[in-house]
Formats: sequence, structure tokens, C-alpha cells
Amino acid sequence: MKLISVVVPCYNEQEVLPLFYDKITEIMSDMVQKYGIDYELMFVDDGSKDKTLEKFRELSHKDSRVRFISFSRNFGKEAGMYAGLQSSKGDYVVVLDADLQHPPEFIPKMYEYVKDGEFDCATTRRVSRDGESPIRSWFARLFYKIMNKISQTEIVDGAQDFRFMTRHMVDSILSMTEYNRFSKGIFSWVGFKTKYIEYENVERAAGTTSWSFINLFKYSLEGIMAFSTFPLTLSIFFGIVFCIISLIMLIVFAIVGFGSISGVLTGAFFIGGIILLCMGINGMYLAKTYMEIKNRPIYIVRETEKGVIER
Ligand code: UDP
Ligand code: MG
Repeated sequence: MKLISVVVPCYNEQEVLPLFYDKITEIMSDMVQKYGIDYELMFVDDGSKDKTLEKFRELSHKDSRVRFISFSRNFGKEAGMYAGLQSSKGDYVVVLDADLQHPPEFIPKMYEYVKDGEFDCATTRRVSRDGESPIRSWFARLFYKIMNKISQTEIVDGAQDFRFMTRHMVDSILSMTEYNRFSKGIFSWVGFKTKYIEYENVERAAGTTSWSFINLFKYSLEGIMAFSTFPLTLSIFFGIVFCIISLIMLIVFAIVGFGSISGVLTGAFFIGGIILLCMGINGMYLAKTYMEIKNRPIYIVRETEKGVIER
């Protein structure tokens, strides 16, 4: 009998969890009937500050299919997904958000695509960004444009972390143990045959999003740096351009005579700015390398459905 693991990273989701649990159980029970599969629910508590962990304990008491791991602090959604994938035992794994923005109704459809081996992965792709602020959408689109220009790894606009995958693909993802994780890039980097199912954006069922605009901005920088070294080479480009400009200036000034101090000052500031920018870019990569080289664990587990870990 094939086992499907449902991996759900959760951070402060006490409000939506009961709704989510009812919905997913309904869908998965139908699948048990229809396809003769079995399933497990693998919840990850990413150091929630509300009653999420208590809810997990309750659920795992009353339902033996519920397993969970709880982190020692908030490690971020990427770490949550990684931990969930690592603990999952299924022949297939589906990852989705707890807030019902990834409609569980899609799971049977995803399974249909993957079960016969035609595809290794089925995922949803948002075709509209309704319900999102126009500025946010604009920045998101800009991000995908830049990303796909400067990186060899293609990131599909509107692609999501809602994925149904084979064990082979999951193991490939787990073999990428990098600390700075950018799943959209990782999913696409490992390759495999992927089916994109298009759908309209839906609002959160309850609770609030934990992503601020600043966080999203930082996350997109992470993404660019994790999958492209193009920004590092920008300095070479600027360097060459400015050498040429200064040469031309030298020639022009030699002909017309050197002018006011202010012109020189402006130039100095400009060049200074460019140098700082390039140093900043170098610094960011250095910082990433520094974090990778430390080889820290991606997450630390404090408790599972079997109880608090003692050592
Ligand atoms: N999440 C998490 N750790 C975090 C932030 C979020 O595990 O530090 C989970 C959250 O509980 C949800 C999913 O990641 O299941 C997506 O989060 P959210 O709905 O806040 O993001 P959005 O849908 O706005 O992108
Ligand atoms: Mg959400």
C-alpha cells in the first residue's frame, strides 16, 4: 500500500489548524477509499508562540496518523519544510500551508498526475495575484524577471511551495543541505518532470500572514544570491564602464581645460557610490559563504509526537 505524507509547516496557526485538520482529513479519507492508499500528517511547529503545539499534541493523541515535530525556536518556513520532508516516510510527499491558501482539494488531482509515473511532481501555479497589493505584485513580477535573466535555474512566476512529489524527488531535495534555503530555486534545480496546475489565488482562511514586505524583500535577495553569482560580476562591468568614462573625461578636459571643483566632486561621489555598491554585493556573498561554512544545523527539534527529546 502506498503511503502519502502530508507535510505542513506551521507558525502561529492555532486559529486555522482545526479548520485545516478537518479539511485535510476529509480529503485524505476520500483518497483512502478511492485509491487504497494510506496517509500520515506530518506537522512542523516552527517555534510558534501561540497554542499551535498544544493543538498538535491533542491531534496526535486522538489520531494516530498525526505526527509532529516542534522546533526549539522559530527557524523559518524553509527549515520547517526541510524538517518535514526529512521526517516524512511516504512514497509520496505533499507539502502545503496550514492556512488553506493551498486548497487540499488539489491533492487527489496531483496524485492522479504522479501515480502512473508520467510526472514526478505536481504543483499549482497562481495565475492571478488578486487580493495582493499592486505594489507587492509589481515587485514580485520584477523579482521573477531579474531572477530568470541572471540565473541558470528557471523560477516559474506564480509557482508555489504547494507540491506533490515522489520519494525520489524528495530525497534529491534533501540531498541539498545548504543553510540558505530558497525552495522555489531548489525545486527547480533538482529538475524532474513537473506538472503545473493553474489556479486563482485564495485568501487565508484565518489568522494573519507572517510575511512583511521587508521579509519578502530579504527573501528575494536570498533567492537571487542562492541561485546566481551574477551580482558579483556586476563590479567588473561597472569598473570597465567607469574606466572608459574617466578616460573620455580626461581627454575632453585636456582639450577644453579643467573646470570647476564641483564637477570633480560630483564625479568623486559618483564613483565612491559605485565602489560602495560593489563592495556591498561582495559583502553579501561573503556573509552567505560564512554562514554556509559554519555548517550549522538547519533546525533543532525540541519535541515530537513521542514527547520531549531528552538528549
Ligand atoms: N510559516 C512557518 N514559519 C514561519 C512563517 C510561516 O512555518 O516563520 C508557515 C505558516 O504557518 C504557513 C506557511 O508557512 O503554513 C505560509 O505562511 P504565510 O501564510 O504566513 O505566508 P503567505 O501565504 O503570506 O506567503
Ligand atoms: Mg498564507
